[in-house]
Amino acid sequence: MAEDCIFCKIAAGELPSEIVQEDEDTLAFMDINPWTRGHALVIPRNHSRNLYEVGENDLRNTSNAAQRLALRLRERLGCDGVNLLNACEPAAWQSVFHFHLHVIPRYDDDPLQLPVRPRQAEPDELAEVAAEIRGG
Ligand SMILES: [Zn+2]
Repeated sequence: MAEDCIFCKIAAGELPSEIVQEDEDTLAFMDINPWTRGHALVIPRNHSRNLYEVGENDLRNTSNAAQRLALRLRERLGCDGVNLLNACEPAAWQSVFHFHLHVIPRYDDDPLQLPVRPRQAEPDELAEVAAEIRGG
């Protein structure tokens, strides 16, 4: 447990939350700023900062728990789809520094919109960045 980490405190029962699913390794609870009805967060009980640092077992267990929750949301809330979202570092909108996955139920008539306008890339541009990622 990390000092001053609100998700560690939730996992320890020191802060209140609306828990919707839990097991030995993970916990899922309602996001206090939901994007849609039923928006929940899934965390490993072990503290890690984010995707860069989470351990393999915690990542696997949290991902599996997110799938179980998505199925539960479909069954219980009748959502039409689900977004699974992770934010790693402030540049990617991370604001709580304990690894977590957002499980966001989606409804055909919900107001969410894509935050970007995808544009077609040029083949040269893709080849250049792919080479940079591959290295060598
Ligand atoms: Zn923590």
